Amino acid sequence: MIKKKIAILGSTGSIGKSSLDVINLNKNKFNIILLSANSNFKEIKNQIKTYRPKYFVVTNLIVYEKIVKKFRNKKVKILRKFTELPSKIKFDITIAAIVGIAGLEPTIQFTKQSKKILLANKESIICGWHIISKIIKKNKTEVVPIDSEHFSIKQLTNGYKNADIKKIYITASGGPFLKRPFHSFNKIKPKDAYKHPNWSMGKKISIDSSNLMNKILELIEAYKIFLFDPKKYEIIIHPQSLIHAIVLFKNGQSKFLYHDTDMRIPISNAIYDNQVDIKNIIKKNNNFLDKLKNIEFMKVDKKRFPIVTFINNKFLSKSAPIILNASNEVLVDSFIKNKIPYNGIFNTLNRVFKDRDFGKYAVKKTPGIYEIYKIDKWARKKTLQLISRNYEKFI
Ligand code: NDP
Ligand code: MG
Repeated sequence: MIKKKIAILGSTGSIGKSSLDVINLNKNKFNIILLSANSNFKEIKNQIKTYRPKYFVVTNLIVYEKIVKKFRNKKVKILRKFTELPSKIKFDITIAAIVGIAGLEPTIQFTKQSKKILLANKESIICGWHIISKIIKKNKTEVVPIDSEHFSIKQLTNGYKNADIKKIYITASGGPFLKRPFHSFNKIKPKDAYKHPNWSMGKKISIDSSNLMNKILELIEAYKIFLFDPKKYEIIIHPQSLIHAIVLFKNGQSKFLYHDTDMRIPISNAIYDNQVDIKNIIKKNNNFLDKLKNIEFMKVDKKRFPIVTFINNKFLSKSAPIILNASNEVLVDSFIKNKIPYNGIFNTLNRVFKDRDFGKYAVKKTPGIYEIYKIDKWARKKTLQLISRNYEKFI
């Protein structure tokens, strides 16, 4: 049997490692050709030794040089950039799991070089879906979003059209601060925000989940991927994170997709086209009926999660999401580095949206890659300016 050729972009991250777990269980079916990371020297070294990929892309220059030195006489080819990979090399499956807009160009490139692409990197969908979707059509690449909500919506709406659908709920756990008293929000430290009650994820998405920015990003992601009317979506709090999306149909039926909080479930189902026996991948028993007994849903409290007030066409359509995404990346990074308080994320974003130049950068319908970076750069610069201007207030 010919082994499937695999690439994992962002292999040292949470999604990357879960994907390697799934793939490594069936070594006779897969051939790991390419892995990539940014700066985690120890994990890169470990993955080269364990998985013996043909290529490893290391984007951070200092770490790249250290890895090149370490593996000088070995078979693996260490690349500094994805574009150094010959374009004639084709993959059966790529898992796009870099975090942030850094994933945009690699995702575009691997959509061209792969038969099937599993998309986790939501920031590239948000900023560049109009580019990625053209390549998908031209190259007939199969695309599967593996963010659990989108994976669920895809399954639930398969065979239906916009006119059949009344409503689509995207669930949000509410994160670690769902019940925290308001007056203590400004005391929140990054380590508090990393403690997601249900999922174990990378730092950025954990912080995005704690204030519901992750759901805003997911709404935009859904607007882009699916052809349904944006007005049909609603975010709903579901603290157990077991149901990922609910679709109400006009015919009176509703469907939801339930699965345990383990990303290996959408990843393995995407890899194996739903033909997988999950007990071969996840050993623990899931007590389905017991868990169903305790399922809750509630409306989003806008006072607790003011970020949902950004659900407005002005901020979520055309090129505005590029600004939202870039400013948020800067703000999350600043919060992680203790440069701004937790509430500074929402407050500064609000200021970026009120800036007199916002309108100029937010109205591009289908910006090319150069224009995307121009908008992204403006938003980053503006956000950093606002942070430094308010620094006195923040400390
Ligand atoms: P992590 O932070 O755990 O991992 C990110 C990966 O990207 C690492 O391999 C990291 O390398 C690499 N990376 C970081 N910066 C760069 C850069 N500048 N250039 C190239 N590579 C870089 O993130 P997650 O795995 O949690 O998330 C990955 C993506 O998937 C995100 O877009 C997230 O929103 C999405 N997602 C994640 C889910 C989850 O459960 N974790 C669920 C749904 C979607 P290094 O380790 O060397 O820094
Ligand atoms: Mg999600």
